[in-house]
Amino acid sequence: MFDLVFQSWIVEVGGRIVLIDPCTGNGRPHVVPFFNLLDTPYIETMGRLGYRPQDIDFVVCTHLHHDHCGWNTHLRDGCWVPTFPNARYIVQHIEYDRFRSGKTGLEVPAYNNGVFEQSVEPVMRAGLMDLAEGTYGVCPQVTVKPSPGHTLGHQMVHLDSGGRHLFFTGDCFHHPIQLADPHVHFAGGEDIDQLVATRRKLVDLAVDLGASLVAAHTPAPYTVRASRTDGRVAFTAGFG
Ligand SMILES: [Zn+2]
Repeated sequence: MFDLVFQSWIVEVGGRIVLIDPCTGNGRPHVVPFFNLLDTPYIETMGRLGYRPQDIDFVVCTHLHHDHCGWNTHLRDGCWVPTFPNARYIVQHIEYDRFRSGKTGLEVPAYNNGVFEQSVEPVMRAGLMDLAEGTYGVCPQVTVKPSPGHTLGHQMVHLDSGGRHLFFTGDCFHHPIQLADPHVHFAGGEDIDQLVATRRKLVDLAVDLGASLVAAHTPAPYTVRASRTDGRVAFTAGFG
């Protein structure tokens, strides 16, 4: 069973605040009733945790599906405007192009109707978006790296905090079982062969660095640590 949650992550490191994957956002018409015209206390919840929209330094969208970039913007006087006015928003260039122009030949799925216009283009128009060409340093401890497959321009977030490594892997994985068997399929995926290769690569890198992995949609305990003993890769829940 795939047990999915929809959540964002806030990383505070080296005096900078990074928001990863700002969920679906409020007030968007959506083909899936669960997401239609949401009215969630997302900003209020951030506020209770001590973060105001203007405090966010970076917003990283692992990819441009609706549930990873929605709160990029919010409605003000009938217009979609950036929610985090002091942030740089980081998206892979190829991901931006894939959803902007259709030049990759891929259709925009129905569950993403209107997302580019509502949640991406207003940020670009406001001059707040940086399009990464592959690996890109967000700040000294945070790097985004291409991890294609789920979407063509999917990126993961590599946090290196004093030699402790954490990978925010977005939608490369929807269930920890895919760490052990990268062929276990979940709905979607723009290039499945590439996605399987990406899963393998991420697990290898995590083993080499002793990194923990955090997938976008997995519930508590959220993190899985990968390690190798006697040539066998093992996975443990939590940071380890
Ligand atoms: Zn997702």
